[in-house]
Amino acid sequence: MYYSEELIEEVRMKNDIVDVISSYVRLSKKGNSWFGLCPFHNEKSPSFSVSRDKQMYYCFGCGAGGNVFTFLMEYEHYTFTEALQHLAQRAGVDLPKEDESQEARRRAGIRETLLAINKLAAKYYYAQLKSEKGKTAHEYLTGRKLSEDTIVHFGLGYANKYSDDLSRYLKMKGYSDEMIIQAGLASADEKYGLHDKFWNRVMFPIMDANSRVIGFGGRVMGEGKPKYLNSPETPIFDKSRNLYGLNRARQTRKPYFLLCEGYMDVIALHQAGFTNAVASLGTALTAGHASLIKRYVQEVYLTYDSDEAGTRAALRAVPILKDAGISAKVIRMDPYKDPDEFIKNLGPKAFEERISKARNGFMFSLEVLEKQFDMASPEGKTEFMKEAARRLGTFDEEIERNNYIEAVAKTYKVSFEDLRKLVAKMAVVSGLAVPVKRAKKTEGNREKEDGNLKSQKILLTWMIEDMSVFAQVKKYISPEDFPGVPYRKVAELLYEQYEAGRLNPAQILNYFTEEEEHKEAASLFHTKIKELSTKEEQEKALKETVIRVKNHSIEEATRALDPTDIKGLQRLMEAKKDLQKLQQIQISIN
Ligand SMILES: [Zn+2]
Repeated sequence: MYYSEELIEEVRMKNDIVDVISSYVRLSKKGNSWFGLCPFHNEKSPSFSVSRDKQMYYCFGCGAGGNVFTFLMEYEHYTFTEALQHLAQRAGVDLPKEDESQEARRRAGIRETLLAINKLAAKYYYAQLKSEKGKTAHEYLTGRKLSEDTIVHFGLGYANKYSDDLSRYLKMKGYSDEMIIQAGLASADEKYGLHDKFWNRVMFPIMDANSRVIGFGGRVMGEGKPKYLNSPETPIFDKSRNLYGLNRARQTRKPYFLLCEGYMDVIALHQAGFTNAVASLGTALTAGHASLIKRYVQEVYLTYDSDEAGTRAALRAVPILKDAGISAKVIRMDPYKDPDEFIKNLGPKAFEERISKARNGFMFSLEVLEKQFDMASPEGKTEFMKEAARRLGTFDEEIERNNYIEAVAKTYKVSFEDLRKLVAKMAVVSGLAVPVKRAKKTEGNREKEDGNLKSQKILLTWMIEDMSVFAQVKKYISPEDFPGVPYRKVAELLYEQYEAGRLNPAQILNYFTEEEEHKEAASLFHTKIKELSTKEEQEKALKETVIRVKNHSIEEATRALDPTDIKGLQRLMEAKKDLQKLQQIQISIN
């Protein structure tokens, strides 16, 4: 951390959140809270609330929330440090320069250097594209119908045929071999020294939400393998938490994003006027992407390739988006392969039409599911309806679930009541263990990992909201049971605050000075707990969550255990025994 905890807290305390937000949003008082129109999503009636007691804000519409620092980071796109400096100045607090810890300075130093190297590389590739050497690459791009404007907007470039050109340039600019390698732009060879990762490729700089270059994608011109090559993950480039085109899409203020598969799709769509298009970066959509999207929009139109792989990717994306609270629709590109080809052949107007005809993601997944059953036979249709009912049971909110039951009943010509009963029955059959079972059977580790993070998140949210739940959970779960970043830190701080007698989430957010971590931590305080109607259901769900978190914690510890550590092994055996006992416990909710 750059500044001491006390100092950050002082700045926060001296900037009342209602006063600060009032200078951006018109707020009026209702009961204990202040309300206004949310600056982070389009709305006509106010669902953005600010609490003076808690010194936190929260939007019931889009889920944005946090403390006074979070607000400035979101609204002004400040880094944490910039938000802190701004508010310190506003309140007349002096920030000493020498308060930085060495480690923080070193880490911040590395990130800054990597950003500087990437920025320089992007400029270099761009200059190459514009030079005589880049003629073929330039022709390649214009051949793919990209305008000069588009090339400039996306900062496209060219890595030439010499395999150490960029490295030599960066070294001449004073950067060390080590940093160039760490930036993912070159690797070292004992015989020949540094050589570039990208050569003879068209280059697509990848930018974060704040338009800083954090990596590159390179495409071969014509044939050659691999077709696309991406920068490796580095301290500034996390593929599962960045989306190509987001820096521009976030500014469009449209209520939805078009989510596509590749760089070229995003660029083609932006050029055709659809500036709300984004793509995941050479990986399938993750929960990290979904929560990133959720900060800007609540609806996504999947614009994936029309082949089988694209359909599968869309089917996989729908529940991930749903889990994050985003509704998904699917746009079909047939008879063309992808949005790029579609637009080239039929133009933007036809694409606009496809958007208006987009199919609901859940209904789309049922249509695909149908193909696995013999719908003409009564047995086949029954089996299909059972699976549909099981999936309907995964909608947390009753209204939403009923809306879907209605739609499915209508489409498949069964009565609403019959289907509703079947959904209830299937829910009992599969029970609360559904997410865990499903994870084991299908998508494997990633989905399971997402489920574990979600359990940790839900448990923390629950503890924050209810001190009596905290008191009970504390007996079984300690901060060490939260292996995720930043959950562990949040848990440690919460437990400290609990011991001191007062939970203060707004203060906890002070500790997260990295933008992504800060927002992830802020989201912890607003995770939606599944709406369960009866107290018994809530208590059962809470117990299940405790068990899941504990179980995951033991699994992690087992994985990390040194096989010669006999004491550690004994401890784990004890923990496993205790886990059995957890089945017997009783947690009560007021
Ligand atoms: Zn909002």
